[in-house]
Amino acid sequence: MSRKKVLVLGSNFGGLTAALAVRHELHGDVDVRVLSPSDHFLFNPSLIWLPFGKRRPDQITFPVAPTFESHGIDFVHRAATSIDPVARTVTDDSGQVHDYDYLVVATGYRNRMDVVPGLTPDNDAYTITTLEDAIRAGEGWKRFLADPGDIVVGATQSAGCFGAAYEFLFNVAHQVKKAGLKNRVKITYVTSEPFLGHFGIGGLPGMGPMPDGEHLLAMFLRKSGITAIENVAMAGIDKGGLTLADGRTIPFGYAMIVPPFAAQDVNRTAPGLTDDKGYVTVRDTWQSQAYDDIYAVGIAAAVAVPWQTSTPVGVPKTGFPTEQMAHTAAKNIADQIQGRSPSHAKAFGDMPAVCIMDAGNNGVMILGNKMLGPDKGIMIPGPQSHAAKLAFEKYFLWKSRHGYVTLP
Ligand SMILES: Cc1cc2nc3c(=O)[nH]c(=O)nc-3n(C[C@H](O)[C@H](O)[C@H](O)COP(=O)(O)OP(=O)(O)OC[C@H]3O[C@@H](n4cnc5c(N)ncnc54)[C@H](O)[C@@H]3O)c2cc1C
Repeated sequence: MSRKKVLVLGSNFGGLTAALAVRHELHGDVDVRVLSPSDHFLFNPSLIWLPFGKRRPDQITFPVAPTFESHGIDFVHRAATSIDPVARTVTDDSGQVHDYDYLVVATGYRNRMDVVPGLTPDNDAYTITTLEDAIRAGEGWKRFLADPGDIVVGATQSAGCFGAAYEFLFNVAHQVKKAGLKNRVKITYVTSEPFLGHFGIGGLPGMGPMPDGEHLLAMFLRKSGITAIENVAMAGIDKGGLTLADGRTIPFGYAMIVPPFAAQDVNRTAPGLTDDKGYVTVRDTWQSQAYDDIYAVGIAAAVAVPWQTSTPVGVPKTGFPTEQMAHTAAKNIADQIQGRSPSHAKAFGDMPAVCIMDAGNNGVMILGNKMLGPDKGIMIPGPQSHAAKLAFEKYFLWKSRHGYVTLP
């Protein structure tokens, strides 16, 4: 019997993990090919530091080809442009056709900057959610330091990556203080979250003497002299000012806004594969609802938002659950290749919430019992959480570069 072919679209958290894990599960007895327009892995969590010169791009990226090669995985540096689930083929942007027995869609996100008209560096309004954006935010930061004004940090309606907005907020406050500008610069946090510390997961409970997420965040903001505006949509940005949906205007000289994420267009090319936003609808096995031989992991997978908020918020599909999805998908592909039904299931909402939020020289470690609506959890603030974030970055990059996917 010929060896089965697994094709993985995407080479970051989800794609890299899925490709390596499926080889591991089948002890190398499978052909794995990764197709991706990025030939570098990007450790997105460190993008919060890039604008302040605390990281260079080469410190938070590594080339993926050597990693794949050393694990017997074929890497093709191309974007997938269409998926044919009947012929079981994917076409790339050079026209080359790749066939598969099993497909893993790990195509992640792109920014939806058009959600707020005027959200552009031309208006001194930046984002940090891609490497190129974070570099531009750094160029803007240099200009800001030469001619300071007020600062707005925000997360728009339907954004889901609130952790990055908070981390940037506390880092910017730290940098403002370091630059001796604390008394000159007003910092405002604007968010679609219904309350501070909602994070798109419903907030975090308190434990013992530790207050809940909302009160802890409020305390941090107060201590840093930051004003917060919650539960609000953004209507537009002009040079020098952000207009909210309720008509208020907040002046700024520098803004960093986290937009909502959109799925990649290729996901939509297979009939019935995605929801109306282009995210692949999946079962708890991370198999597509429509096709038994297609899986989706990470941001590419659709996750239902279990609550309605008056200003819409998204769900953060963070690194830890992305890895869990990739491992679950790899185990199930191995099951199928070995003639069994997929036997591994992990619902997104039940995966633990694990995150370290950095604050410059301080931080908070966040542990919740589940991703959606955690009712048990702990938040550990202090400089040790900042140190843990730095150590985790080094560890994760080392682990991923060497392809040690079985390590936690
Ligand atoms: C600023 C920021 C800070 C964050 N901080 C944290 C944090 O502290 N902790 C945490 O757990 N998570 C954090 N996250 C979230 C984390 O980055 C995501 O969970 C993770 O990136 C999801 O991985 P992914 O593989 O699904 O998607 P991505 O990382 O977006 O990777 C998608 C891959 O698909 C490729 N691709 C795109 N289009 C195509 C195509 N047409 N064909 C083939 N391949 C394609 C891309 O090139 C890329 O390789 C942060 C995210 C951001 C943006």
